Amino acid sequence: MCIFCKIVNGEIPSKKVYEDNDVIAILDISQATKGHTLVIPKKHYANILEIEDSEYIKVMKVLKNVTSKINDAYKPKGFNILNNCGEVAGQTVMHYHVHIIPRYDTNDIKLEFTDHSDKYDLTEIMHDLTI
Ligand code: AMP
Ligand code: ZN
Repeated sequence: MCIFCKIVNGEIPSKKVYEDNDVIAILDISQATKGHTLVIPKKHYANILEIEDSEYIKVMKVLKNVTSKINDAYKPKGFNILNNCGEVAGQTVMHYHVHIIPRYDTNDIKLEFTDHSDKYDLTEIMHDLTI
């Protein structure tokens, strides 16, 4: 059983800030910044490609409410709301979860996006990806 399933069923302790029938929110043990929280569906899905829409919607609703709570409590200057999908993207726990990382300073965590648009044809990509 995965570590988040164990947290959900109480085998491993956690600092829970929210729980309902379908979703929990716990403090991330690493506290990348103060209040760093994970929102986790109780049912095990590896990632966003596997989670059912109905569960995903529940996670998103809790995500919004917990973000508001952190905002009221700690008044950060902003947030990164983040999901790592796949090992290559930094996912270490293969049970879908979303990070809420309050931001107090531009340097408190490092996330770097580099502009590579000169390498790609945006029109072609738009055609490839249009739903
Ligand atoms: P990710 O790398 O996106 O899969 O995120 C996994 C996160 O789970 C990391 O930020 C870890 O710090 C966190 N984590 C791992 N074990 C625990 C635990 N027992 N309780 C709370 N957070 C945990
Ligand atoms: Zn699990």
